[in-house]
Amino acid sequence: MSNSSEIFGWCGKILKVDLSTCGISELQTMDYADRFLGGRGIAAKIYWDEVKPDISAFDPENRLILMSGPLGAVGAQGASRFEVVGKSPMTLPEGFCYGSLGGYFGPYLKKAGFDGIVISGAAENPCLLFIYNGQAKILDAADLWGRNFSEVQQLLKKRYGDDVRFVTTGIAGENRCRAATLMTDQDGAATGGFGAVLGSKNLKAIAVLGTGKPAIARQEAFNQLNRQTVKLGMDRGEVSRIAYPAMNKLEVKGSKKANCYQCGLGCMRRMFRLAPDKEVIGKCQPIGFYAPWVKKREGEPRETSLYAKELCNDYSICTLEVQYILEWLEHCYQCDYLSDEELPLDFPEIGTAEFIENLVSMIAHREGIGDILADGLLRMEGKFDESVLGHFNEQFPGIGFGYDMPREYPLSSLLYATQPRASYAMLREISTLTNYWMIHRHLPDKSPMDAELFRKVASRFWGNDQAWDLTSYEGKAQAAKQIQDRTLANECLVMCSVAWPLMISDETPDHLGDPALESKLFSAVTDIETNEAKLHEYGERVFNLQRAILLREGWIPIESDTPEEFNFTRPVETSINNPEMIVPGPGEETQSIKGSVLDREKFTQMRAEYYQLRGWDPETGLQKAETLQRLDMADIAEKLKPLGLVS
Ligand code: SF4
Repeated sequence: MSNSSEIFGWCGKILKVDLSTCGISELQTMDYADRFLGGRGIAAKIYWDEVKPDISAFDPENRLILMSGPLGAVGAQGASRFEVVGKSPMTLPEGFCYGSLGGYFGPYLKKAGFDGIVISGAAENPCLLFIYNGQAKILDAADLWGRNFSEVQQLLKKRYGDDVRFVTTGIAGENRCRAATLMTDQDGAATGGFGAVLGSKNLKAIAVLGTGKPAIARQEAFNQLNRQTVKLGMDRGEVSRIAYPAMNKLEVKGSKKANCYQCGLGCMRRMFRLAPDKEVIGKCQPIGFYAPWVKKREGEPRETSLYAKELCNDYSICTLEVQYILEWLEHCYQCDYLSDEELPLDFPEIGTAEFIENLVSMIAHREGIGDILADGLLRMEGKFDESVLGHFNEQFPGIGFGYDMPREYPLSSLLYATQPRASYAMLREISTLTNYWMIHRHLPDKSPMDAELFRKVASRFWGNDQAWDLTSYEGKAQAAKQIQDRTLANECLVMCSVAWPLMISDETPDHLGDPALESKLFSAVTDIETNEAKLHEYGERVFNLQRAILLREGWIPIESDTPEEFNFTRPVETSINNPEMIVPGPGEETQSIKGSVLDREKFTQMRAEYYQLRGWDPETGLQKAETLQRLDMADIAEKLKPLGLVS
């Protein structure tokens, strides 16, 4: 890293707060940044150092780690994110998990002088952490407790002004609902139960205000790269609106862009007006999770779908979890599996605002069956008889599951099998390309992605042109590794996965985007010379660190690196992202993958190839000590050795 004493990009300090003792101290960012950059990387290293494998998610010794990265707050396009890491109460068993949030909090944390925050302990009474220009205070928050997101927002703005940025959780988080989201301003949300971890620490909110700005090493070069990013960037919002017409129909009067901090790139994030004094932000899956039921009711205003999303955010419950709860409860109701006493909801009214209000309130307050639902669908076993559990939606075997599932694309199977939760940032590389490709088939003027360009993009971004055939297993091990390493590197820099990587462009002669742009931006900001390959090596290091954490917490190589059984046995019928399931096939052919399952033998071979490419033992799936040494992680290998977790 730079020999200069001046730090560019980073602030140089990470705030450490122990709520049990009211202790406030600092860590030096550069002690971590050398190997782990920022964002997910530094957060994962602090987790490795500080979170013992056997503690529970609600143990005060669990950490809630919020980290920005070197490109946060400098004005880089689409670098608005911050990462959250901690032990999740939502995974089964409880274990290491992560989330990524957009909005303004991450950049404002850096403006307030810190690259990140590490929270440990638990306060005796509800409290608020207030950070302003390098100073932090733990304050009483009795007036915020018992309130939902929107009320907390109002009170914080009243107290600190409109510029205040914050993270918080609603009543679901206070009551330790395992699917409680961590919420931030501008409607950023993270699943994984981090809202419940915040609640378990009696910490209602973290508010930040700041007037600083991290230094940029080469301002002119940086400005030029930023301009290039805007020029090359495609409007993902337009593509999404074409690809998902159902969501398009949800747009109500008065919708307008609702971008994150200093981001001028186009995406689905939009503000909708529900009433003259009520605006809500919508994006991706949450905006439409209740829509299937709303649409079935004649005369029900389409705004009810947006209201349902807003309600979940207000209480802070993961909308995907609520969607699966709705599907399961409806099935139980239709089959008469639960009595009226067990299920005190007026099911003929499903699809109305009142119905979703009652359900979400019951879960958040843990009332009646809501108490069981608050512990999550993954923990239902033993709470109902087998026939009831048989009505689970099989698409929900884990956090965030349901999109681009393993039986749809062999490439997805590796992305799912090696992560503790569905990583949308990784899966998004597949859906982005298939969306552009599908649009080109019907509206060629809206997307340049023909078969030839798809092959070129696969070759350049996924390492080989066999990867473009999404029906085959060839070239997918390499593609999965490249997607993972790039995603992790970008999540260290805090780049948004909606905008990055820039895979295609209307502005280049061959329509290929630039996979080296992130590394150029990083170098211009920090003055650290790097390139695409070196940046990906940071991602590879962080991926291996996460693997070490998972192994230490009981992840069983091979067994855990296998998708759920139904992917091998039950043919896929449809997909949320691609209802007709048309994909690029061999040659110039398009192909429907309806009815496909994951081939066990081919998957096993592909996984062994993947282990090999990662430098892991293909027989056991354990990391080789020499691989960890190559990645400058001999210290991690040393810790894994006595546990028998390194090959
Ligand atoms: S592309 Fe959209 S979601 Fe990503 S940083 Fe920009 S405004 Fe936010």
